[in-house]
Amino acid sequence: MRTGIATVCLSGTLKEKMHACAIAGFDGIEIFEQDLVTSPLSPEDVRKMAADLGLGLDLYQPFRDFDGVTPDLLKANLRRAEAKFKLMSRLGMDTILVCSNVATATIDDDGVRAEQLAQLAGLAGDHGIKVAYEALAWGKYVNDYEHAYRLVEMVDHPNLGTCLDSFHILSRDWDTAPIEKINPEKIFFVQVADAPKLSMDVLSWSRHYRVFPGEGQFELAKFMGHVVRAGYTGPVSLEVFNDVFRQSDTERTAVDAMRSLIWLEEQSAKWLADNAGNGADGAPSGGATLRRRYPMELATLPKVNQPAGFNFAEVKADNTAQLERLLGQLGFGFEGRHRTKDVQLWSMGQARVIINEQAASQAEPSIAALGFDVDSPVIASARAQQLKAPVVARRVQADEEVFQGISAPDTTEIFLCQGSPDGTAAWTHEFGEGLEHARSAQNAVIDHVNLAQPWQHFDEAVLFYTSALALEPQPFAEVPSPSGLVRSQVMETADGAVRLVLNLAPVQQAHGPKTYQEHIAFAVDDLVAAARAARARGLDFLQIPANYYEDLDARFDLDPGFLATLRELNLLYDRDADGEFLHFYTATVGSVFFEMVERRGNYSGYGAPNAPVRHAVQYDSLHR
Ligand code: MG
Ligand code: MG
Repeated sequence: MRTGIATVCLSGTLKEKMHACAIAGFDGIEIFEQDLVTSPLSPEDVRKMAADLGLGLDLYQPFRDFDGVTPDLLKANLRRAEAKFKLMSRLGMDTILVCSNVATATIDDDGVRAEQLAQLAGLAGDHGIKVAYEALAWGKYVNDYEHAYRLVEMVDHPNLGTCLDSFHILSRDWDTAPIEKINPEKIFFVQVADAPKLSMDVLSWSRHYRVFPGEGQFELAKFMGHVVRAGYTGPVSLEVFNDVFRQSDTERTAVDAMRSLIWLEEQSAKWLADNAGNGADGAPSGGATLRRRYPMELATLPKVNQPAGFNFAEVKADNTAQLERLLGQLGFGFEGRHRTKDVQLWSMGQARVIINEQAASQAEPSIAALGFDVDSPVIASARAQQLKAPVVARRVQADEEVFQGISAPDTTEIFLCQGSPDGTAAWTHEFGEGLEHARSAQNAVIDHVNLAQPWQHFDEAVLFYTSALALEPQPFAEVPSPSGLVRSQVMETADGAVRLVLNLAPVQQAHGPKTYQEHIAFAVDDLVAAARAARARGLDFLQIPANYYEDLDARFDLDPGFLATLRELNLLYDRDADGEFLHFYTATVGSVFFEMVERRGNYSGYGAPNAPVRHAVQYDSLHR
């Protein structure tokens, strides 16, 4: 698959953008007109720089408001087009994007449109230029890709084809199957963008909220599957207008973009394999044994299953006393220090927490690393590296377990560990220096981990965990807090064994309380007993207001004795059709706090109705 990206996706100057695209490994780029117009580089400079960087200049865009106009306007539009064709010759470019008319069309007649597009194609032919005509989702008269293609067929000129843009097609819910009926010679270009499902006007949605594939909710593998089945072999190019990406680090966004195409390529191949035999091309059914080959080659990645569970969570701190006290009060047992590093292991059943005192540059404790149980750490690591995840190096001595580590977008270190069926971990023998120590009586597992994400890297994080770890993004929620709305995105495995919650923290005010908090939640069998035991050990619970319990009673009509227990122990409660959820929070240390939960029945949520209470109480306690 030939990869591309429009310069409009990135921040920076044209030169910076081109360098970043080359570093990220793109085959080609789309020159967005404004990037050229505002650049000190001459067209000849750009052409040479692209050649030196090994970047194809695959598409010049956009050319707007051409078709369906009065004769006077047509004359002016052809003159404008010819100037661009001459410019493209200097750039050494041969394909231009022409969008369906939004602003100046006054004639709604396919005959007139075809006649005008024929004149444009003829002029383009004189300059050796190909015109890729695209239906904008908000085009005045042409807003449907099949309509745009009908016009291309009516004109029937070698220099006129169509551009398929996943946003314009999927935002309008157009059926993508008819793409397969398009003559592949007439598909001059394919642009891909993902987007969250939002209810707003489609133009604003497109201009501000497009994201890279895998970061939104569009069915892009299916879209691409139809494109591949049509026989298309040209560039697959990202065209993503996004307010955040346009102000984030250029090289980093280019890598995020490239990762999205590598992932999309794999997902498209998978969609084709899963849907072999269902093609509009009438390929015989019979599944993989009769799998057709298509002209576009799709690369695949090392395959991984979803992780089977958390292997450990690691908190970094240089003053560990408060953390040690909290874990002990929760019922964790101290398993000992590592024999060669300044690292402690605490455990309760299968829940393991490492306190890392080395290189704890931040004075305040924070979640530094997560270990996941995978089938094969080597294969999982190979996959992550092919997806351009940065590798994390850890100092190990001979006979110590070598962890395969990668760095997540927020710099949390992700370790790919060898899972074991009984939930134990081989590396724990490196701790404790052979001393006997009391094990915690209580069973527990890491239920979920909640990571605060910097705003610039939130979408990147969603794609990272989707592509590298095969976690499934759930529809996002917005949780009210005193310092702003917190965007919350659950990433989990199908069986719920791994649940990761990504929270986009509100931007912190210069002198305001900290908004950056994250936590590790442990599931136990009997939360009331665990809370009583923790209270007996002196645990500092997050104090829940009495108003909450009145509201809880109004909503759920709870047994008075049960309600009194919840209130007495500062427990929170939720219930849905699948089951019940009890939980409590500890006070915060640095940017970290802990949660303890009990899931009853098949409850699979996180107590979302209680999250605003938690945010408000934490805010209050930081203000004091
Ligand atoms: Mg487009
Ligand atoms: Mg962290």
